[in-house]
Amino acid sequence: MEKFNIDKIRADFPILKREVNGKPLVYLDNGATTQKPSSVIDSIVHYYTDMNSNVHRGVHYLSQISTDAFEVTRKKVQAFINAAEDKEIIITKGTTDGINLIATCYGRAFIHEGDEIIISAMEHHSNIVPWQMLCDEKGCKIRVIPMNDKGELDMDAYSNLFNEKTKLVAVTYVSNSLGTINPVSDMISIAHRHGAVVLVDAAQAIQHIQIDVQKLDVDFLVFSGHKMYGPTGVGVLYGKEDLLNAMPPYQGGGDMIKEVTFEKTTYNELPFKFEAGTPNIEAGICLNEAIDYINSIGLENIEAYEHDLLQYATEKLAEIPGMRFIGTAEKKCSVISFVIDGTHPYDVGVILDKLGIAVRTGHHCAQPVMDRFGIPGTIRASLAVYNTKEEIDILVAGIQRAVNMLI
Ligand code: PMP
Repeated sequence: MEKFNIDKIRADFPILKREVNGKPLVYLDNGATTQKPSSVIDSIVHYYTDMNSNVHRGVHYLSQISTDAFEVTRKKVQAFINAAEDKEIIITKGTTDGINLIATCYGRAFIHEGDEIIISAMEHHSNIVPWQMLCDEKGCKIRVIPMNDKGELDMDAYSNLFNEKTKLVAVTYVSNSLGTINPVSDMISIAHRHGAVVLVDAAQAIQHIQIDVQKLDVDFLVFSGHKMYGPTGVGVLYGKEDLLNAMPPYQGGGDMIKEVTFEKTTYNELPFKFEAGTPNIEAGICLNEAIDYINSIGLENIEAYEHDLLQYATEKLAEIPGMRFIGTAEKKCSVISFVIDGTHPYDVGVILDKLGIAVRTGHHCAQPVMDRFGIPGTIRASLAVYNTKEEIDILVAGIQRAVNMLI
């Protein structure tokens, strides 16, 4: 791309033209879900208008073109994250589904009583609870990497958590509540030296940072379509082929079998072994357009633009009296979390909503992070490629107004 054209990018997202409460929408809740460009919306309409049919089973024309389109997405994802094989790409319902799949399948087969799983202090609940469920079932134990007051993981403490019982590390690439970018490449090397496999939760990274799974040497990586300008109800689990092959299936049903008799069933090959039942076909097919959209701008351009915007937002917000940032790591992307002395995050959020500004307030599905900082919740503004400095100015003015009303 010759030049980053923000006007053109904004024009690609029809919802950005709408008003909320009589004011132009300022959408800063991208960590929860991103808006969709016309190309993705059009592809959903196109799917139902011209292609709708079940995949991987019909001999007829529509089923064949739907199947082909679904498999095009798989190959597009493979290229996007540089996986070695397309069969290493499992189409899931989303990040949560991918983590549960690994906790269930890898966990049941390879994690036993007394074993240990390392997670970090800044995980989303979806990267805590599935491991707790596994530990309840298996009698294994979770160990937690602590973080400092800036919201950075303590890497010395991380190294010291390993012992011969450590089987798996599950860590987020980017914190959804703090914006911290974790040094996952180093973390993976350390884990591998201790013989542990690593799952990286890339839900908040895939739309902001270039990811090369082979370079990272990550064992499992999960993300959601809806946070990367794509449809809801679809996500990706990347897994190394040998690990996926060694794991038992997730759910039983259609598509994941080779042969079924009442005596015995044999399972399908990768990736279908982990894709039981009819998938979210339309979302799977249309995720392709979302990746094309990101590629058309270029992740390196997105990274640079969002970095600049995050710095601008941080500087402007810092001017508000009583502002306290939660999460001030050296390496951050997209997310600014804060509290303001004398106000409750929810009250500020409600006033911002009246001004057409969408932010998230609360614990952001990361209650242990809030406990670590001794607060019930934060106000979170999270940026995407279509946000602007003008919108940041509107946010800052809105917060100032809310503070004046509340204090
Ligand atoms: N992990 C992180 C870091 C997230 O931000 C989210 C979504 N907020 C999830 C996991 C869960 O994603 P989903 O709800 O799409 O499954």
